[in-house]
Amino acid sequence: MSILVPIILVLAVAYFIEFVRKHRSPGVQLSAAQRVILSKYAIHYQRLPAAEQRRVEAVVSAFLHRKEWMGAGMPVAEEMKVMIAACAAQLLFPFPDLELVHFQRIIVYPDTYRSPRSGRMHQGEVRPQAGVIVISWDDFVHGYAHSRDAHNVGLHEMAHALWFENLIRNDEHEFLEPRLLAQWKALATREVAKIKAREPHYFRDYAGTNQAEFFAVAVEYFFEQPRVFREALPEVYHALVGLLRQDPAEVA
Ligand SMILES: [Zn+2]
Repeated sequence: MSILVPIILVLAVAYFIEFVRKHRSPGVQLSAAQRVILSKYAIHYQRLPAAEQRRVEAVVSAFLHRKEWMGAGMPVAEEMKVMIAACAAQLLFPFPDLELVHFQRIIVYPDTYRSPRSGRMHQGEVRPQAGVIVISWDDFVHGYAHSRDAHNVGLHEMAHALWFENLIRNDEHEFLEPRLLAQWKALATREVAKIKAREPHYFRDYAGTNQAEFFAVAVEYFFEQPRVFREALPEVYHALVGLLRQDPAEVA
């Protein structure tokens, strides 16, 4: 048997897997009841033009149906799934096919919980090694109920998940444009140094922890105070517009 036969077989299998991945079914559509939850409570969705709302619905549906949902001491209600998926979609919808595949499980706690990892009370966290996103529902709702205070734990944790997903070598690796990401990191380094030096700064102090926290906090300001953010830190704001492929100041 020629040595070529096994090579051709391996290539054929790899091609088939890639074909199935690219042409997989678009997933179940949102039900009428799920769409009602979106239009009633998802502020970001309400503000978008109709064509973009359809794209958000597709992302919400994929996220809702492809993740494994676990309630910590309570069932995860349909409304919780739709709203957490809508939060993810707020970041994901401008990126075709991006689903945060590394993060397969979403754990929902009723409210603030003690993390087994840090031993401290948490409103949410991302566990990249386990591929898990954890959210306290009470704090999640609080984040959207006060939609202009730049505190939103849902967006904060989804931003962390997006940041890790970009770094992890899988099908969704490097979707953040490397040139824009390098520019972002340079600006973030400058701002983090300002916060650490206690110079006047716009973001809350926690953004000065490190690059990952700076990004997560910036995403909260980006969606909750886009115009004030643009005014206060125009270069940083426009870098984030490029990186995240959307401009909330032009929508809100
Ligand atoms: Zn964080």
